[in-house]
Amino acid sequence: MIGTRRAARLRSAVADARAILGGRIVWHVNSTRTGGGVAEMLQTLLAYERGAGLDARWLVIEGDAEFFALTKRIHHRLHGTTGDGAPISESEHQHYTEVTQRNAEQIVSMVRRGDVVVLHDPQTAGLAPALRLAGVVVVWRCHVGRDEVNKEVKDVWAFLKPYLVEHAHAFIFSRADYVPTWFALPPVFIIPPAIDPFSAKNGPMGRATVRTILKHIGLLERGSAAGDLGFTRHDGSHGRVKRRAEIVQTGPVPSSKVPMVVQVSRWDPLKDMTGVMRGFAEQLDRLGPAHLVLGGPDTRGVTDDPEGARVLEDCVAEWHRLPAAARERIHLVCLPMDDIEENAVMVNAIQRHAAIVVQKSLHEGFGLTVTEAMWKGRAIVASAVGGIQDQIVDGVHGLLLDDSTDTGAFGNALAHLLRDRVLARRLGRNARRRAIAKFLGPRQLIQFADLLNALIQTGSP
Ligand code: UDP
Repeated sequence: MIGTRRAARLRSAVADARAILGGRIVWHVNSTRTGGGVAEMLQTLLAYERGAGLDARWLVIEGDAEFFALTKRIHHRLHGTTGDGAPISESEHQHYTEVTQRNAEQIVSMVRRGDVVVLHDPQTAGLAPALRLAGVVVVWRCHVGRDEVNKEVKDVWAFLKPYLVEHAHAFIFSRADYVPTWFALPPVFIIPPAIDPFSAKNGPMGRATVRTILKHIGLLERGSAAGDLGFTRHDGSHGRVKRRAEIVQTGPVPSSKVPMVVQVSRWDPLKDMTGVMRGFAEQLDRLGPAHLVLGGPDTRGVTDDPEGARVLEDCVAEWHRLPAAARERIHLVCLPMDDIEENAVMVNAIQRHAAIVVQKSLHEGFGLTVTEAMWKGRAIVASAVGGIQDQIVDGVHGLLLDDSTDTGAFGNALAHLLRDRVLARRLGRNARRRAIAKFLGPRQLIQFADLLNALIQTGSP
């Protein structure tokens, strides 16, 4: 699937990295094992690193509610928005330092001099100084950012800079626009994330199985279903979709013939789930019999995102205020997170069933949900923000919304694609080709191996 030239490039980059690393371990550190793009991307990257023979391991830091409320605020500011609007107080700053210090001490006791530690996102930035002192190669990978710098971005970089700039040996950003240019940085690498085409989230799934899973979780009318609820886990063992989703809906649920418009995201204000719902409801009469599914994780399953429950509540409250005709066609779906591969299989089925996959984010780091939909050959309507613009060329691999808040344009795009199924299929085919060429695991592994080769050769510890 990746072509002989890329396969050869992959083999040589990885062989070099293995030789340079010797017995060194590559540690990835983030703030949650489940939920959201970083956890998803790490599953892919670790699988490819280990498959290539690197000793790669994954650690998750611990923090309390105050810490994650603060880091979510930092996350929003890197996206150029104010989040909950509160400033970062001196005592919170102190708390951030203390929590990250505590985590750093634990990690320092596990790593050896010369190991490589990749810290992901702002939650882990505070670990860099202690790790550098311990003699490890420190890389900070930032998955979020904003297309144009504004005051929030500059302010939050003033917070992050002392932890990172003199301590990390290198930075990784998903896109060049996210790199701060107003001060000097250590070497910067641009590496967009990638997906694993063989994972539970993205592996092949026949139409009958898709329908059987959607019937089982409660999203499609029950009835005869020839598919299977079984799936193969990452470790080769057999899994089965057992749980059901918690769904806010009036019923009756649609039949499998009804076109489904789908957005799967964390319950995060920047994903604008309520905006998608409002836009769909406003344009209901133009959308034929289509239904809308807004799917996200059970909010208890995403430990580093304290906003999820509130965003979901707001969405449910707004759903209750919609006219009955709209409520009948809009489903708010919370997918269980107890078994992360079961959750992934559910997402896989929902995305594959979609007539249109939407990602109407107000801001977006990269947007792995878009990559997942591209790989699955879906017709996509998404905002022209962040990494979505690197993935989709408007009119070629999907339709992009210049203004993510323009519900009229959103409705037009949906109506257009629901009517013109030939166009929808063409966009889907192009999207899949592009995902194969640019956004699968091997490309990311080549870039990461190149980074290791460059960093370790240039005389880091
Ligand atoms: N996701 C999931 N289960 C859910 C909802 C979302 O596994 O119930 C995944 C989704 O498939 C994607 C990731 O969470 O892989 C979201 O990544 P993205 O880059 O789109 O956004 P982020 O959450 O990082 O802002």
